[in-house]
Amino acid sequence: MSSRPHAIVIPFPAQGHVIPFLALSHSLVEQGFRITFVNTEFNADRVVAASPDKSGDAEGIHMVSIPDGLAPGEDRNNLGKLVDGYLRVMPGYLEDLIRKANESGGDKIKWIIADENMGWAFEVAKKMGIRATCFWTASAAMLATMLSIPELIRAGILDADGLPRRHEKFQLSPGTPSIQTTQFAWNRAGDAAGQRIIFQLVVNNTKLLELAEYVICNTFHEIESPVLTVFPNILPVGPLLSGQAFGKPMGHFWPEDVTCVEWLDEQPDNSVVYVAFGSMTVLDRSQFEELALGLELSRRPFLWVVRPDLTDETSGAWLDGFRERTVGRGRMVSWSPQQRILAHPSIACFLSHCGWNSTMEGVWNGVPFLCWPYFTDQFLDDSYICNVWRIGLSLNPDEKGIVPREEIKEKLEELLADEGIKARALMWKDAARRSVGEGGSSWKNLKSVVDAMRE
Ligand code: UDP
Repeated sequence: MSSRPHAIVIPFPAQGHVIPFLALSHSLVEQGFRITFVNTEFNADRVVAASPDKSGDAEGIHMVSIPDGLAPGEDRNNLGKLVDGYLRVMPGYLEDLIRKANESGGDKIKWIIADENMGWAFEVAKKMGIRATCFWTASAAMLATMLSIPELIRAGILDADGLPRRHEKFQLSPGTPSIQTTQFAWNRAGDAAGQRIIFQLVVNNTKLLELAEYVICNTFHEIESPVLTVFPNILPVGPLLSGQAFGKPMGHFWPEDVTCVEWLDEQPDNSVVYVAFGSMTVLDRSQFEELALGLELSRRPFLWVVRPDLTDETSGAWLDGFRERTVGRGRMVSWSPQQRILAHPSIACFLSHCGWNSTMEGVWNGVPFLCWPYFTDQFLDDSYICNVWRIGLSLNPDEKGIVPREEIKEKLEELLADEGIKARALMWKDAARRSVGEGGSSWKNLKSVVDAMRE
């Protein structure tokens, strides 16, 4: 009988978590692990429907799903509801899953690798006598901020419920990005009561980290060294990208439109503006139309990801008119193979919401950014990109959240003419590749964790 080390892997149920968790899983499989990957049933159905062969399977990875405690039609973008649902039911299902797997006579599950946001999974690990690793999929600076909540309260930046005492930006220490007191996940959890509940959950999750033997993070030392030096327990192992394993399924929730790669092949090198806002950002009609007009005004080729839920109307006469006016140089798709897009030689820059995965994917490919953050850590990432690493420029939405078309055009011109930004983007690209290459900082960290998990 085989005796491979067997880990059960459980991401927070959102696209920006499932993708890096699968990247990590692919890497572990390559290193001889057996992986059981847990999606919620709701997300597993989406992955199956979006995958080209309608299976959702990934080689070497055993895909399983458990309920998230919500009814099929319930709003999973409502953080309060989502968290309430999974806390009620998921621990029980996870226990069952592990018990059955370990009674089946195959390789026993010895490790849980769970998202920091799923702190309850570490309690399940403890209860069942299995060991735990935490995988944090955003920046180390964001995790360091969560771990610093008691200090932020003592310093009078947040009150005891996590609400901002002052609307201001702060830095954890010199050389770290700025953080807005109003831009934490709990600030988006509806009314004050909802915010308090999510804040307590966040605080509780940071305490449950004590149950994890390792905390690994999808970043690399060189790019976040001021934070990682102060928080040496956060082990950078990234960037973990499926780009290193092209062709492997990455758990996309929407079908990837690969025809846009052929379109990119026809564009001149270094010419296309790639526009994508990740999986959750929503633009209102005026923000959306002004952005479209800005792209039109720029007269540059663009590839724009317009998810079906990006704005309230992603079809209709207005859009038909825009498409006609930009035909030949503009392409809109509902979901792209983003990592392939960013690696394409035709891409000149990335107009991004600055989600951490998008940020790492842009850095990995040396692509300059035009930043339009939407919520939570995206503001911190914007600050990293524009002020700390200096590989991009920020857009400045007006009080209605709209970026005027002229600003889009002008900032694009400024960005693409800036040789310093280009040079620094290439420098970070090299540093990212060195970190995961054999002997690099992330390579060594991942190896030490993997070696320990093999024992
Ligand atoms: N993504 C993609 N195709 C798209 C848009 C996004 O594959 O058209 C991927 C992107 O490569 C990234 C993830 O979706 O890995 C989004 O994660 P991110 O942290 O950037 O943003 P979030 O969706 O969490 O806001």
